[in-house]
Amino acid sequence: MRALCWNGVNDLRVETVADPEILNPSDVILKVRLSTTCGSDLHLIDGLIPTMREGDVLGHEFMGEIVEVGRGVTKVKRGDRVVVPSFIACGQCWYCQHDLYSLCDTSHPKPELQEPLLGYPTAGIYAYAHAFGGYAGSHAEYVRVPFADTDCFLVPDGLADEDALFISDAAPTGFMGADFCNIQRGDVIAVWGCGGVGLMAQQSAMILGAERVIAIDRYPERLAQAAAFGATPLDFTQVDVLDALKELTGGRGPDACIDAVGMEASGTGLQHAYDRVKQALYLETDRGTALRQAMLAVRKGGTLSILGVYGLMDKFPLGVLMNKGVTVRTAQQHGQAYVPRLLEHALRGELTPAALATHRFPLEESAKGYHMFKHKEDGCLRAVFMP
Ligand SMILES: [Zn+2]
Ligand SMILES: [Zn+2]
Repeated sequence: MRALCWNGVNDLRVETVADPEILNPSDVILKVRLSTTCGSDLHLIDGLIPTMREGDVLGHEFMGEIVEVGRGVTKVKRGDRVVVPSFIACGQCWYCQHDLYSLCDTSHPKPELQEPLLGYPTAGIYAYAHAFGGYAGSHAEYVRVPFADTDCFLVPDGLADEDALFISDAAPTGFMGADFCNIQRGDVIAVWGCGGVGLMAQQSAMILGAERVIAIDRYPERLAQAAAFGATPLDFTQVDVLDALKELTGGRGPDACIDAVGMEASGTGLQHAYDRVKQALYLETDRGTALRQAMLAVRKGGTLSILGVYGLMDKFPLGVLMNKGVTVRTAQQHGQAYVPRLLEHALRGELTPAALATHRFPLEESAKGYHMFKHKEDGCLRAVFMP
């Protein structure tokens, strides 16, 4: 089959690779209908996540049709149109039983690669380096889905492929980030980042009852999409974000701040220059501009919800959180806990994930799609690939 392979930093090529096969009775093989780029893929492409290998197939956000079923699968069948969360969860272990699906104890085939870094291994994820399981990704004609009874969700009739696609990763990640904020009536939620995850966090905060959602970014087309969703846009290159947030909240600050940016944050000032240099020298993996700003901006006793992908950060101001009594919540997405609810919200038109799909490419042109996505050319919010 054809697939988009990582061959080194900023070197992506569509190549012919072996078709995936059923390896365990719980597996299915999915014929990919749609697959999309994710901001966190850029960290792989830029070489910031170690343990990538030449020939690894990229892509962790996808939906498709089941074409082959392992003999242990009982809930889904050949021909089903399904969406699959990016983290692979067994459905049986203690973590899965407690709705902490991205922390599944079973789905990581090489836990010894992660234990020294994290203490305990996380779940495996499609196409996110060998430290996260080494699973082949979805920018391909076919993908193997393990634990299909837990991880495949039927897409209801009446919901378009493009809406279902983002319920794989961007929508559940964003919804989880808003859910972490324990939103009460009257709450103001500030979201750093208007990429796919940030925009989904903004819509989710509204669904969960936020009175006002403030969206922070620098690209006009992304801020325009945030405004179209009903958020108040803030361009961090045009205003002092901390001052603006104080002004918009009567001086108190947002009740919760969501970081949907992660380790490659843009920014200005000395601290940002320091981060850029240390990251280039691999002395730290993270540029923390957005996260530090969110820590300062959140009101006393508020919540900081971190969705951005991070590794090691210098100058992490722990005292800000401690002295202000901030609750920090963070996780890789526990998609399986949210997907059924999100499919319902999308079916009712309350959540509109298809709005993220600004550019479409045949799989053969996916390297070009990544280039446009990375450089945000032509207002590219997400590039969608059709095998
Ligand atoms: Zn993702
Ligand atoms: Zn599990």
